[in-house]
Amino acid sequence: MAKKQFKAESKRLLDMMIHSIYTHQEIFLREIISNASDAIDKLAYRSLTDQNVGLNRSDFAIRITADKDQRLLTVSDNGIGMSRQEMEDNLGTIAKSGSLQFKEQMEKQDDDIDIIGQFGVGFYSAFMVADAVTVISKAYGADEAWMWQSSGADGYTMTACEKESAGTDVIMHLRADTDDEQYSRFLEEHTLRELVKKYSDYIRYPIRMDVTKTRVKEETKDAEKPEYETVTENEVLNSMVPLWQRNKKDVTDEEYNQFYKEKFFDFEDPAAVVHLSVEGAVTYKALLYIPSRAPFDFYTKEYKKGLQLYSSGVLIMENCEDLLPDHFRFVKGVVDSQDLSLNISREMLQHDRQLKFIAANLEKRIKSELKKLLENDREKYEKVFAAFGRNLKYGLVADYGEHKDLLSDLMLFWSHRENKLVTLQEYADAMAEGQPYLYYAAGESRERLAQLPQMERLQEKGYDVLLLTEDVDEFIPQTLQKFADKEFRSITAEDLGLATDEEKKAMEQKQEAAKPTLDFVKETLGDRVKEVRLSASLKSHPVCLTPEAGLSFEMEKYFQKVNPEMGLKAGRILEFNPEHPAFAALQLAVAQDREKAKQYTEILYAQALLMADLPLENPTAYTDLICSMLK
Ligand code: ADP
Repeated sequence: MAKKQFKAESKRLLDMMIHSIYTHQEIFLREIISNASDAIDKLAYRSLTDQNVGLNRSDFAIRITADKDQRLLTVSDNGIGMSRQEMEDNLGTIAKSGSLQFKEQMEKQDDDIDIIGQFGVGFYSAFMVADAVTVISKAYGADEAWMWQSSGADGYTMTACEKESAGTDVIMHLRADTDDEQYSRFLEEHTLRELVKKYSDYIRYPIRMDVTKTRVKEETKDAEKPEYETVTENEVLNSMVPLWQRNKKDVTDEEYNQFYKEKFFDFEDPAAVVHLSVEGAVTYKALLYIPSRAPFDFYTKEYKKGLQLYSSGVLIMENCEDLLPDHFRFVKGVVDSQDLSLNISREMLQHDRQLKFIAANLEKRIKSELKKLLENDREKYEKVFAAFGRNLKYGLVADYGEHKDLLSDLMLFWSHRENKLVTLQEYADAMAEGQPYLYYAAGESRERLAQLPQMERLQEKGYDVLLLTEDVDEFIPQTLQKFADKEFRSITAEDLGLATDEEKKAMEQKQEAAKPTLDFVKETLGDRVKEVRLSASLKSHPVCLTPEAGLSFEMEKYFQKVNPEMGLKAGRILEFNPEHPAFAALQLAVAQDREKAKQYTEILYAQALLMADLPLENPTAYTDLICSMLK
């Protein structure tokens, strides 16, 4: 019979399987079993609405048979099966995922139902251990059965065949043993038993296998020398109890982690696990994971938040978004509640009181778990924060700060003085005597911020400054306004609260005396600055730039980036250090040589822009000016 060709992509994957790149070849069994389980899910779901299926939940099973003589390992299921076309489509093309199609169809009906689109290498993984694979399948409701056969990348054949009832048999002819790999071990009872326990224990349908047992012969039971006999028994190998249904104390960390990695496709252990069993107004179990790293698409639209939702062990929604608030969208897990109805539609779920109740409770538990991690395992928390901190920050500023109380104590910022990440509470606790504000500086990098001209005087006073370097950061003090009863204050603000009353008075006098110079500068710079004045925040630097109240320079940069058409600009206030020799020189020039005074003004203004990390309006004019003085 003519061989049909695999699609190019499939061929490539198949090639990879055949020259097996995986060291864990044993996972093929898990993949084949989970396909069988998915197929049963589909028929089981159908049976909820279709009387003709004629099978009860307890009739469904997966069977494993090992034939050592012929080196055949068979996995059979009585699930939905495949038609000829489906077999060709599904097994001949890798990118075509039947589960996905099914789900899409279900979603059209506004009914979201299970089908764990088991990620992984899928059906083709059989070729890691088998040199020939036969699939016999009969689709539910079909009259004919079909056989798909392939012994590798060169193609497959399709033949009509006989099969009594709906379902699928996957028959794998195991490869010959080599020095490196004993494929025949996959025909051994104890290996199969172990593999099922390890990877497929929680599969919700019984995985049955004939096992041989030695037992005492009934009639010799009471004799002095009892005789033994070997019998074959059909045994269920898996416990069928999902991990989250088990008792917390009976589950090992290893099991929690293994389950997480397999179910949520991560290769790293999670940072924390929350296993809940709640009884009361709504009874439910939940198993939540806080990942230790962000999935590659986490900060894109592709990423979908949500938890898997089960009702008494039956998956009713793959990704129930309503169970997770946006600020905790990185959490993965499952929720299982007997109080939810099986046939509930997505629409109804949104308004479901029970669901809202569960979601509110989960939010609290996630918060307290993060807090616990922060307090007990700082290193781990910092890793989580590096991955998801940005998301938590967005959560804090979102919805006009509605969640700020929940999230503020989860924040970490860089402390200039401590040179490490600190919480807001830690910053507040370490404040110097009499420190009036919580100081922060926002900018692109910590190095640049450390060089801000205003930094020196704060340091001199022993006041720490939080260095905010992410674009969302500066919205946090704006949203919080206060923490631990102290107001936040940007170190570029006009009044840093550093001067005593006397100093303030003295400053006013100086301001008055310097008026002619300040007026001259304002006149020279025109609209480029809103105001010109003396500063109380400077120590060794001659000038600094302060934004007019309302919009900061960092926000200006942010909005320029995300929405340049808006043309938002922070008002610039130029401040002089009255003690600096440059200011004295400027004052002298204003009195004696106005041309020179104009040049000094331009230079000092440009310096203020540079230090604030703002672009010069005309860099060429500035450099020409400097060069003209190098004579
Ligand atoms: P995935 O399961 O990720 O979709 P697979 O390569 O494992 O990818 O399987 C491809 C498709 O073949 C499945 O989506 C399913 O439609 C079909 N299939 C595989 N095994 C079975 C089975 N035992 N019964 C019915 N359909 C199956």
